[in-house]
Amino acid sequence: MVTSTPPSLPASGLSASGSLTIDLGALARNWRAAHEASGTARASAVIKADGYGLGAVEVARTLAKAGCRDFFVALPSEGIAVRSVAPDAAIYVLNGPMAGHVDAMADAGLIPVLNGPEQLALWAQAGDRHGRPLAASMMLDTGMNRLGFDEAALDALAPDALQGIDLRLVLSHLACADDPSADMNIVQRARFNRMRSRLPDVEASLCNSAGIFLGPDYHYELTRPGVCLYGGSPFIAEPAPFHHVVTVGAEVVQLRRVPAGETIGYGATFTAASDMRTATIAAGYADGIFRAAGNRGFAAINGVRVPYVGRVSMDLVVLDVTALPDGAVRPGDQAEVLGPTISVDDLAQASGTIGYEVLTSLGSRYERRYIAADFSQF
Ligand SMILES: *Cc1c(COP(=O)(O)O)cnc(C)c1O
Repeated sequence: MVTSTPPSLPASGLSASGSLTIDLGALARNWRAAHEASGTARASAVIKADGYGLGAVEVARTLAKAGCRDFFVALPSEGIAVRSVAPDAAIYVLNGPMAGHVDAMADAGLIPVLNGPEQLALWAQAGDRHGRPLAASMMLDTGMNRLGFDEAALDALAPDALQGIDLRLVLSHLACADDPSADMNIVQRARFNRMRSRLPDVEASLCNSAGIFLGPDYHYELTRPGVCLYGGSPFIAEPAPFHHVVTVGAEVVQLRRVPAGETIGYGATFTAASDMRTATIAAGYADGIFRAAGNRGFAAINGVRVPYVGRVSMDLVVLDVTALPDGAVRPGDQAEVLGPTISVDDLAQASGTIGYEVLTSLGSRYERRYIAADFSQF
């Protein structure tokens, strides 16, 4: 079954020249794989940044059906949106309670990740107003120096400081989980154990996607996979062991013959060494195809990889289709920008970035289609 959500621009088929298809069955299988790799722990799902650009509500709806009971968002607004499709789930808000959102968070039953004493005080006050301590979790800073209680902040806590909250989970975040040989992983795990031994004995969580593969010592009770759910590789320079979830297609607008010696695109950065045939497709850097991928990236046509030639324009990319048989591609055909042949990480690598940034940059111009998961096969 295929369902659509309306794009933010007028009339779908007419305005969108590209399509973004999200395979919710593959998403569910990836969550299941992450859950199984988590050993005795259960896997949550990290769905911040609108589910890494794929739609947090659709992602949460699917993964709740797959058995996921814990979700992590970044912002209160994301948590409130997700609550409607996951009425019984624990929904954690990574950035913590923000003044002005505290009561809305409490009303939606969201669980803040408390990142320091100010947030702890804010949430305890909210508990006072609600007449009971409210569910919370605590981020321990074991080396990221980004958010969380460090050891000094734990030292400074008053003995009764945690009485105003209902502590459910302590967590920390690994800086180098994508590199299994990094000593930083060992250092952070030791700090995590030392710090959490000073807190009430509640569930603990340390791993992102890559951390899960550091082994059982890192799993605790809850893991927090994000990028692997969406088909991105959690590892440095290794192909993703997960199913691809996202297919981006862009329509071929025009086919051209480019004689030897002619240049292609802005800046005339590409010169045809011999006569060539090209296809110009209707997607560009405004659609998340990074400009840095010019002359480096690949698309696919009928499963054949075809290189980008020249710079990426705002709405267009030119592909070298000389290797395809004459007539194999026509105006109106779809080129695969991302999908079974071109992975999120392939495009990331050509762009000098990571799969996470490719996913969250896809933008709003595509016609979005969700392929529903078939749970009878699950
Ligand atoms: C984003 C995030 C995750 C998920 O990380 P992935 O590398 O995408 O698996 C887990 N925990 C925290 C605190 C995060 O910010």
